[in-house]
Amino acid sequence: MITTYHRPQTMNEALALLNKPNTLPLGGGTLLSKPTADPVAVVDLQALGLDSLRANGNELQIGATCTLQSLLESEHCPAALKIALKLEAPINIRNSATVAGTLVASDGRSPFATSVLAMDAKVTVVSDQSSVISAGEYQLSKPKGLITQIVIPLNTKFAFEYVSKTPSDKPLVCAAVSQWNSGRTRLVLGGYGKTPLLAMDGTEADGIESAAKNAYHEAQDEWASAEYRMDVAATLAKRCLESFNV
Ligand SMILES: Cc1cc2nc3c(=O)[nH]c(=O)nc-3n(C[C@H](O)[C@H](O)[C@H](O)COP(=O)(O)OP(=O)(O)OC[C@H]3O[C@@H](n4cnc5c(N)ncnc54)[C@H](O)[C@@H]3O)c2cc1C
Repeated sequence: MITTYHRPQTMNEALALLNKPNTLPLGGGTLLSKPTADPVAVVDLQALGLDSLRANGNELQIGATCTLQSLLESEHCPAALKIALKLEAPINIRNSATVAGTLVASDGRSPFATSVLAMDAKVTVVSDQSSVISAGEYQLSKPKGLITQIVIPLNTKFAFEYVSKTPSDKPLVCAAVSQWNSGRTRLVLGGYGKTPLLAMDGTEADGIESAAKNAYHEAQDEWASAEYRMDVAATLAKRCLESFNV
């Protein structure tokens, strides 16, 4: 339950507030405003100007409080990322939910987190000092601090494929593949578990189907068996690659 609300006007003010106990950054508030037993103070980020979206050379710099819908509507947003964003949440939630809040709250079923991990996105986290870490590192350690920016590359090929029970459900299995001009190919699987899974990051695409199968050999839950997910993951990974040659 939110018991205290702050709306700082500067980053320094925000960081000082966030150093207090039981105090969390408030993005779109779609998750944080859910009723809970524990009192929490929130630091609303909306006055900090962190909602910009800027294509700069080969990268897209996405401010932490940019909403999922603004990103989806951007001319710079890669087409396959738009598919993932539509699956992440329905439009009313996308209009409020921020990219940083979504990354923080995501689990393995998140199409957005799966995509940014495949793109090897960089996340800027500010606490006592500012550091830039990969989305993968962020998912593993979820370091304390304020996310101010997520940067995705614009000079890679990117594909996203999925299978879900209905067209608007979060996927049972999804595959996101980024490929750099050098041939570097990175496959991340989503649809299961606590975080999306990096299945392959190779100098070329060879072996992508077996990498997909191997990564999901224990991906069993109430939604699908591991055997099913292994087969689907391999097919989706292959489809991602094939889409680069169309
Ligand atoms: C009714 C309802 C139920 C939902 N239930 C779930 C659920 O159970 N699990 C789930 O994963 N999603 C759930 N969602 C989806 C949730 O809306 C998304 O995760 C959403 O994208 C969160 O984004 P937000 O900007 O609204 O985050 P917020 O609700 O504002 O914050 C979510 C988390 O991210 C942190 N945060 C926000 N911005 C930053 C930042 N810049 N730096 C560091 N930390 C930050 C917050 O402190 C908080 O811990 C639910 C949505 C709704 C409407």
